[in-house]
Amino acid sequence: MNKNQLLREIPSVDRLLQKEETLIFIRKSSVELVTHLLRRIIEEYRKKVLADQKGQMHPLSEEQIITKLEKEMSQFIEMNLKQVINGTGTVLHTNLGRALFSEEMKEEVWKVLSNYSNLELDLSTGKRGSRYSHLVEKIKFITGAEDALVVNNNAAAVLLTLSSIAKGKEVIVSRGELVEIGGAFRIPDVMEQSGATLVDVGTTNKTHLRDYESNVTEETGALLKVHTSNYKIMGFTKEVPLKELVDFGKGKSLPVIEDLGSGVLIDLEKYGLAHEPTVQESVKAGADIITFSGDKLLGGPQAGIIIGKREWIDKMKKNPLTRAFRIDKMTVSSLEMILSYYLREETVVNKIPGLSMITMPYERLVEKAEKLKQIIGKKNEGLFTLSTREDYSQVGGGSLPLEQLKTEVVIIEFHKTPISSVEKALREASIPIIPRVSNDAMILDPRTINERDFDYIATTIQRIVKEKH
Ligand SMILES: *Cc1c(COP(=O)(O)O)cnc(C)c1O
Repeated sequence: MNKNQLLREIPSVDRLLQKEETLIFIRKSSVELVTHLLRRIIEEYRKKVLADQKGQMHPLSEEQIITKLEKEMSQFIEMNLKQVINGTGTVLHTNLGRALFSEEMKEEVWKVLSNYSNLELDLSTGKRGSRYSHLVEKIKFITGAEDALVVNNNAAAVLLTLSSIAKGKEVIVSRGELVEIGGAFRIPDVMEQSGATLVDVGTTNKTHLRDYESNVTEETGALLKVHTSNYKIMGFTKEVPLKELVDFGKGKSLPVIEDLGSGVLIDLEKYGLAHEPTVQESVKAGADIITFSGDKLLGGPQAGIIIGKREWIDKMKKNPLTRAFRIDKMTVSSLEMILSYYLREETVVNKIPGLSMITMPYERLVEKAEKLKQIIGKKNEGLFTLSTREDYSQVGGGSLPLEQLKTEVVIIEFHKTPISSVEKALREASIPIIPRVSNDAMILDPRTINERDFDYIATTIQRIVKEKH
């Protein structure tokens, strides 16, 4: 059939709307939505016909359209953003939403969201209050900083800082620290947007204090240090420690800004991890401004926390960008709760899901892996082979890039079914399951999987493999 014939034979939307099957969908939603979806299905087909080079297209029947309508209808109505099971073992997985809230947080946060709150009301005076007041005292106590401000994310925190402190001036950064985070955050671009001029000094692997020194001019407005959180330069390297940069800045009356990236508030070495510079260490070293994320190692909501000397924070509060980057009550509430966990360091890793996953003992992971293997194995009908072995998980979120967290994983090797098709079906399951795949085996890392999901995972894998068998 030629293209014109195919296009002429497309059933009309009006006719489709009269069909008994379509009426059922209309009753479930609205005539507008059904019309919208029908037009979309037809338009898609029309485009395919027009693009078809080989003349392989068949006429589009009413039945085919109704089948497609049913599928698109349920996809359109059901929530598109939904829970998934993270089998990758990467704890702060940016594509999977970074840090998780705990069950306990749910109640507190929900109370604030579903009721009126004193978000901007000072209960002692009855006057207008500040949404930041719920957070500032706790942040100051935990970090030791003079003052604090919170914006939507760390990218906004860096932009606000540079724009408030160094607009129209030069900012000196080491060439080894011109980081890119997740593609869209690049220090040179943020700098440009802020109205400050980037002066990169030193070389990729080595920057000395004299490199900063020889580039300070009348135009210099600040010195910036960026934590190279998602990579490490190794071998023949040299960077200027924060403390030295601060001393140098003091001598020149230049503020020192540090973008810490992840922002750890506890010493991870105590839990057998590599040393990650803590926020408190940066405050002690005397940085004027420090910025970090709320949803990386801190374990809270998406947010950018800015701490430092009062004079600079005051300047930022007057910047219109602060209003544009304002956090909402969900962030205030959940971040306050997270911060309150840090008031008791002994319990913090148990209370914050991200931290408890990162610090989960290897013996516990072996136990979880054995249990998961057993549950999946119970429903195995000889269609795949199961085993466990030692492996490594990642922290993720651009934090501790070299840290290999020892774990025990479950490995599934499918006998006949191609792994890519199982992977796709797992992604399309009612609660999608995201595994790791390596050497044609599927890997499930129990570090990031909740035990209450084990049964669901087993049933889903079994169903998929049988369907594809
Ligand atoms: C992650 C990161 C950012 C961006 O933080 P977001 O909270 O994702 O906006 C900026 N700088 C560094 C060094 C980072 O690691």
